[in-house]
Amino acid sequence: MPAEWVDFKSIKGKVSMETVLSHYDVRLRRAGANEFRGKCPLPTHSSTSSNDSFSVSFTRNAWSCQSASCIAARSGRVGGNVFDFVAEMERCSIREAALHLQHSLTENETPRAKSRNEESVAHTPENRPLSFTLRNIDHQHPYVASRGLSEQTARYFGVGYYDGNGFLRGRVVIPIHNEHGELVAYSGRAIAQTKPKYRLPAGFRKSHLLFNLHRALQKGNRTLILVEGFFDTFKLLEAGHHNVAALMGSKLSDRQADLIGTYFDRVILMLDADEAGKAATSAAATTLSSSLAVQIVELASGTQPDQLASEEINQLLEPLTKPFPSVL
Ligand SMILES: [Zn+2]
Repeated sequence: MPAEWVDFKSIKGKVSMETVLSHYDVRLRRAGANEFRGKCPLPTHSSTSSNDSFSVSFTRNAWSCQSASCIAARSGRVGGNVFDFVAEMERCSIREAALHLQHSLTENETPRAKSRNEESVAHTPENRPLSFTLRNIDHQHPYVASRGLSEQTARYFGVGYYDGNGFLRGRVVIPIHNEHGELVAYSGRAIAQTKPKYRLPAGFRKSHLLFNLHRALQKGNRTLILVEGFFDTFKLLEAGHHNVAALMGSKLSDRQADLIGTYFDRVILMLDADEAGKAATSAAATTLSSSLAVQIVELASGTQPDQLASEEINQLLEPLTKPFPSVL
């Protein structure tokens, strides 16, 4: 049975913290122009001494609880958005929380005009899920190893040499999924100097998704590390960073910016340090900073993440990946 579609973005736009708090009958008092405070309603809250640790910003649609034991019970997270709140209250996943909100929304849905953005999205053809998977992919091919990938990483991503038929024959294939984890394409990397370097199916729109986003979402991390390419992603994962996704190019599309803004509170840009990458970094920072916190990794000029060793990647990211002091 196909998984039910969850429209995170639409829910996030429709459901306010105010609505959710009143649903759970949480009463807070005003503590500032845009801030409300009170007793923490979460089941993770065990401290009886902190009566005022829970705060909410209605303008940012965000909440936090500063109680150390409550934070620890939430795996170190200080706060979050409406989805995180419902997930904590219901002790369910973010996806289940979104479904919960989606169902309660459709019950009380009032018809409204579609925004221009929704119209244009509706008229653009989607990358449809594939009805097949490629077989007999060689994860131990010398090319894979020559790019510094362990066999384990190659297996994890489904990457390997394909000797079958079709336009990907004789290339290293990289499965591409949408944010729901549905396989939508394979990219084929040439293993020699053959052109083109990458082959994608005709009609595939790489600007409609981010490579590896579905895996980055599984861990529930609210920070995304954004890179350009497939091999940057592989290297970041080998260095221990699961919250990584790739543009599959250097240009951030509006659709990709929307995806990032929907699922994350913070983005760390780690694009190539060549001319194209530098220009793309500054353009992406401008676009993304309107909806979330943006940080930039300074790579040595002319380098790119897939050329770095795990220790170098971790040294660059270490100062940026400390937890947020507070969401408010
Ligand atoms: Zn709490």
